[in-house]
Amino acid sequence: MSEKIEILRPSALQQYSACPGSYKMQLGFPPETSPEAEEGTMLHERVRRNDTDGLDVEQAGAVEECRQFLEDTIRDSGLATATFENPLEIHDEDGSLLTKGTADVLLTGKGDTCAVIDWKFGRVPVEDAATNLQLAAYALGAMQLIKAQSCTVHVFQPRIKKHTQYTFSKPEAILQNIQKVISRAKSDALILRAGEACRYCKAKAVCPAFRRQTDALAILRDNADALATPERLAEYYAKTQIVKKFCTQIEDAMKAYLDEHGECAGYFYKEIAGKREVSDIAGLCVAVDGLITHSEFLDCCTASTSKVEALFVEKLTAAATANGGKITKKDAKAKFEEVAAAFIQRGTPSRRIELKQAE
Ligand code: SF4
Repeated sequence: MSEKIEILRPSALQQYSACPGSYKMQLGFPPETSPEAEEGTMLHERVRRNDTDGLDVEQAGAVEECRQFLEDTIRDSGLATATFENPLEIHDEDGSLLTKGTADVLLTGKGDTCAVIDWKFGRVPVEDAATNLQLAAYALGAMQLIKAQSCTVHVFQPRIKKHTQYTFSKPEAILQNIQKVISRAKSDALILRAGEACRYCKAKAVCPAFRRQTDALAILRDNADALATPERLAEYYAKTQIVKKFCTQIEDAMKAYLDEHGECAGYFYKEIAGKREVSDIAGLCVAVDGLITHSEFLDCCTASTSKVEALFVEKLTAAATANGGKITKKDAKAKFEEVAAAFIQRGTPSRRIELKQAE
């Protein structure tokens, strides 16, 4: 495909906005995939099918939370028609195709408004809905498609319990913004702005601006004072987060090489024995009986709260159906909370470093 008619995807607009040169720098690089990306695609499909069969407890929980979120959004918005994997095209004023993508869910059915939901299954917080160019493009595509005056976009990240939403109502402003981003990305001037945009950029290994970032980090080795102020500390911390992703890519490339060739310039895989796991809890309990009491044995066991909860919800739902009634998953989970409250306590809270969103 020639560069002239290349369609830039909405999902890349945020990156091109932050670093216009990243479009040209990545031309020719093959598409990258990762276990996380493949899992994300699989979970999107599971949400669409409302199917948690064979998923681990955590994945099943994420899928169920998305379905619950969808139910709640339909109820709160009054938009009753949900279309999954809805292709959306964004057109210029003259009708020519500017960009196109696929909305995870498009909600329609009430007057001249609509909504778009985007599931994100990663644990890194994504751009808020109000400033998310991908979602702005979807909002514009949806408004153009159904001739709506406004579109509310939702970004839902079940794994970190994050939801942001924003109602777009100025299609002309979104169109101008997207046109500006695309025109800068395709212009002859190569504008490189190293920063957050580098995190998922395929051109890191060949990019001079990114190299300058890593060189800047190298000076820290000999200059402890470089971290003396909160501002410098925050600046270098942000840089390390971007480099970290690059380090993971190098590690993945090394693993792929070792898988294929067995050795890479002296590096090889050393086999480490797997962790011991009890495959038959009841059997082990009987085998050690006489020396270890049942009560002592139970002290050595841990139960998976989410597995017990999932089983409880499943059985309660089935019991309600068998009696001719109905209970929602949300209510069944609330019942579990009530029944289990005296027996479950939360562990020490974990912490994660996050950056405050600008007001
Ligand atoms: S590595 Fe960073 S600076 Fe270089 S092109 Fe990619 S996003 Fe831009």
